[in-house]
Amino acid sequence: MGTAPLIIVSGPSGSGKSTLIARLVEKGDVPLRLSVSATTRPPRPYERNGIHYWFWTREQFQEQVRAGAFLEWAEVNGQWYGTPCREVDEYRARGVGVILDIDVQGAAQVRARYPKCLSIFLRASSWETYEQRLRQRGTESEEQIARRLATARRELERVAEFDRVVMNDELESAVAEVRAAIVEAFQKGNAHVG
Ligand code: 5GP
Repeated sequence: MGTAPLIIVSGPSGSGKSTLIARLVEKGDVPLRLSVSATTRPPRPYERNGIHYWFWTREQFQEQVRAGAFLEWAEVNGQWYGTPCREVDEYRARGVGVILDIDVQGAAQVRARYPKCLSIFLRASSWETYEQRLRQRGTESEEQIARRLATARRELERVAEFDRVVMNDELESAVAEVRAAIVEAFQKGNAHVG
């Protein structure tokens, strides 16, 4: 059995990444897990430590950077985010595909380190969709929304770096498209698809 795939899912705030990934993982027909990132951003009311993120102080985060514990890390919207190696390696060795919900800077770092990874960029067909979804979520201030939309514009300029660009206007078809790409990645790596 080969090592299970490493799958990057990037896309602007409001592209629907979290919902799509949750749907893929909960379906359970392909062995997959979502890596839990570390961040210095404060938790949203519903977020729990160790489930949505590892919420670390800047000091804790820096210590882990120095220790070489991150597969990648980047500053996004003024906060630090990173993927701890221990969220990834052991699972892949056991045949579980690992999904990284990371930004375009982190995606470039992962690609350099793991050229065979599968990288997917999720987008919506209209600009208004991102803004609408961000407002519906109701967790960000106006200033944070403006900042996230500016980041989104810069991210959209880098779609060409990705293996696949998936349109997420309709959730179920986007899930099916991403799932098919992941199954293909499992087959290429000769890993078992359950
Ligand atoms: P949010 O604050 O909305 O949870 O995430 C903001 C952005 O940070 C999203 O684009 C998300 O993909 C990205 N992000 C989350 N975790 C990581 C990580 O571990 N590394 C990098 N590079 N980006 C991350």
